[in-house]
Amino acid sequence: MKHPLRLYLPTWLFRSIASIDFEAIYRKVGGQFFLLLDLDGTLRALGSRKVPQPIIDALYKAIEDGYILGVCIISNTGLKMLAGDVAAIAKELGFGYHACYIPNPQKPEPEAFYAALRKATFDTACEIEKLTNVVVVDDQLGTGIVGANRCGFLSVFVRPMLPKFWLLPMLIIKWLKLRKDLTILKKLGQEFPKN
Ligand SMILES: [Mg+2]
Repeated sequence: MKHPLRLYLPTWLFRSIASIDFEAIYRKVGGQFFLLLDLDGTLRALGSRKVPQPIIDALYKAIEDGYILGVCIISNTGLKMLAGDVAAIAKELGFGYHACYIPNPQKPEPEAFYAALRKATFDTACEIEKLTNVVVVDDQLGTGIVGANRCGFLSVFVRPMLPKFWLLPMLIIKWLKLRKDLTILKKLGQEFPKN
């Protein structure tokens, strides 16, 4: 199918990182994989400094189960007060040698993902562009999912975590983006799971 919106089509849809079926991804990839995680709206609600415990638990379990080779948080945020938290969050997640981060990349440019992948592999992979065991998780089609498709990576689109009380304009922007994303997915015949 050569639909013009095909670049926006994620490999999987999950409600949250906490509900990702890492075993299914492991089977589809055919082995261990690298995980590139978006920050705001994916790992934490925009404006929040905390990653919800169920998300931390799910990532820990996926690492313990041996599915994940390396993790890199990749965030487009240019807001210092948000970007400054990225290192703290990588630390809080406590992946040790598994985790690193890259703030301010230009998603969906492929180079942003290759830079993150270089970190996730600790420069041990010689041909980053040829890796096929890479999974990008993002709450926006136009950045994470388009970027993953441009690189030939697999992708998981999660429903954005909206802030409960913080910055009303941000909430409205995020909501509008989500509506646009959902319309695109509908056109492509894919919808979020109901539960
Ligand atoms: Mg996001």
